[in-house]
Amino acid sequence: MLDIQNLRVSHGPIEAVHGISLQVGAGKCVVLLGPNGAGKTSTISAICGVAQASGSIMLEGADLSGVSVEDRIQRGIAVSPEGRRIFSNLSVEANLRLGGGIRTDRAEVQRDIERWFDTFPILGERRNQPGGTLSGGEQQMLAIARALMSKPKILLLDEPSLGLAPRIVAQVFDLIAQLRADGMTILLVEQNARQALKISDYAYLLNNGRIQAEGTAEVLGGSKDMMAKLTGLV
Ligand code: ATP
Repeated sequence: MLDIQNLRVSHGPIEAVHGISLQVGAGKCVVLLGPNGAGKTSTISAICGVAQASGSIMLEGADLSGVSVEDRIQRGIAVSPEGRRIFSNLSVEANLRLGGGIRTDRAEVQRDIERWFDTFPILGERRNQPGGTLSGGEQQMLAIARALMSKPKILLLDEPSLGLAPRIVAQVFDLIAQLRADGMTILLVEQNARQALKISDYAYLLNNGRIQAEGTAEVLGGSKDMMAKLTGLV
């Protein structure tokens, strides 16, 4: 589904990612682990087309270089960004409708919104309230639901558990596990290695802009040395 080769990402004169390669197969959940500043968000930004990048990013065999952010969304990339970035002054429902903004099937968009309200009744109860009045966990659910409203082929999740209470973190991981079970293709960025590996098929460890280790989530999660290294990073 997603094939990245020799990706370099720069912020002005600073190169944050120094030539990484990674793949996400259709229907797989792949996690990109690593400490603060490793280059995880820079990688996500490059996939979305909002960062200065070189190398190749292919989605379903098509090269995305030179493709605009809007066209990448049209081609099936959706992101739940770091910090959630809910439109805090817009209602919960308007946030979801914006997520489906590229779709023309209006009636189906409304049905999908109602489905999310069934899945997360708290969002339904607060459908007319500003998104900014939701708790952190509710905003995270809304951010993921909003991303899915565009009916993407691949969902990029940037640190969805960040800053949430453990009970809420468990709910967020449950939701991701459910999406995976439903066949969604997911690239997950996380610092919470233990929980992320449990719901992932394959993992990459990014450090200082380079991939330091990679392997199946089962192998990496089962390696005491690796887990000590990963959890030591958190
Ligand atoms: P975090 O979890 O803290 O977001 P990360 O792994 O996502 O970490 P990035 O945010 O991609 O890491 O940052 C990688 C490097 O690029 C860091 O050294 C960071 O300071 C730098 N960087 C990121 N964004 C910018 C920017 N807009 N301008 C300049 N440097 C940046």
